[in-house]
Amino acid sequence: MNAEIVAIGSELLTPFRQDTNSLYLTEKLNQLGVEVIFKTIVGDSREHLRGSASLALSRADIVIFMGGLGPTEDDLTREAVAEALQLEVHRDPEIVAAIERRFASRGWKMSANNAKQGDVIAGAIVLPNPNGTAPGQWISGKYEGREKIIILLPGPPHELRALFDQQCMDRLRAKLPPQFIATRVVKVTGMGESQCDARVAPIYKRFTDVQTTILAGAGEIQLHLRTRADSLDAAQQRVDQVVEEIEAELGDCVFSDNGDSLEQIVGYYLQMRNATLAVAESCTGGLLAERITSVSGSSRYFLGGAVVYSNQLKTGFADVPADLIAKHGAVSREVAAALAEGIRKRCQGTLGVGITGVAGPTGGTPEKPVGLVFHALASDRGTEVIERNFPGDRKRIRWFATQQAMDMVRRKLM
Ligand code: AMP
Ligand code: MG
Repeated sequence: MNAEIVAIGSELLTPFRQDTNSLYLTEKLNQLGVEVIFKTIVGDSREHLRGSASLALSRADIVIFMGGLGPTEDDLTREAVAEALQLEVHRDPEIVAAIERRFASRGWKMSANNAKQGDVIAGAIVLPNPNGTAPGQWISGKYEGREKIIILLPGPPHELRALFDQQCMDRLRAKLPPQFIATRVVKVTGMGESQCDARVAPIYKRFTDVQTTILAGAGEIQLHLRTRADSLDAAQQRVDQVVEEIEAELGDCVFSDNGDSLEQIVGYYLQMRNATLAVAESCTGGLLAERITSVSGSSRYFLGGAVVYSNQLKTGFADVPADLIAKHGAVSREVAAALAEGIRKRCQGTLGVGITGVAGPTGGTPEKPVGLVFHALASDRGTEVIERNFPGDRKRIRWFATQQAMDMVRRKLM
């Protein structure tokens, strides 16, 4: 079975509010093995809403409408959906009474327009809303001769989530054939998206029953794999098989095959090797330390370090010789190496990382353009430096630099 999600509200068509509910619903539907084939966002217009409803009903088995169930003039979902289904709407006095009681329990009096929330489409099951006044509605019936499930949900995210979880999941499960879904996420770094795809496409194309999605961004590529089968074991085995082949093809560019982040992986390796890390950061301004310490338990392997933005502090806190900076410039291979070595010694770490670069958008020169970053990793077996020219704005360049530095640590310990 497939589904269409229709998000209703003119505010969702402005730059100020985003449709986040559909992400939640998509995740839940996917868990049930239902594929979302369309998402529509429509403003608070009865005519547009009726049109969107008819279209959705004509092309999806399950149609979920959300928003526009409130008490105000612009809340038109019930009426418009009923029109599309050619069904009547009647007012349920019990719902109105419940809303009145809800108001009374807070010492308020219900205003007349709230009664509208008691309007029910003929034949609908009313779904109580644990977190608000407007109940949801569930209709199973025929549209143009085909069986459909139609669900109306309130827009406020905390209401929608609770209502969907409590009232819709089991009802949907009962309507769907039993099936099991297995998913895996493989994360890759150190190669571009097209290069990665060229190498893995021949693999995933052979597994036509496994859905593969490639998401690239922020210095890593994620391959999301999912498949369904009549048993969890069968589904799991199938995705595992694809993951195995992908890992064999991409080798050490794969840093995680279970969704873990690079900072988590770096943490695992450091702990496994009983190693500690210290960092001296210039252009990343502490972002590397922030990312590493975002992992709970990082105190076991992360010693700390210094943000050494000025030359004076590079010398003062990370023992970079002043004449080295004078000779090669603060953004240089030599200074990156000295930062890594200096901080490693100072902090008595197993490993030391140094980062220096031009994050831009100002400060670039023809010899040292914006995006040029030197990353150094010092250990008892010497120091390696990687020079990169990152594209993008300041934020991206800084992020890429931390990604590169963490990848150096990972590869060192692998
Ligand atoms: P409504 O049910 O249309 O009265 O919406 C109530 C509140 O929920 C408003 O603040 C909306 O902006 C918010 N809302 C409605 N639909 C969505 C959605 N799809 N995603 C996130 N928020 C929403
Ligand atoms: Mg609205």
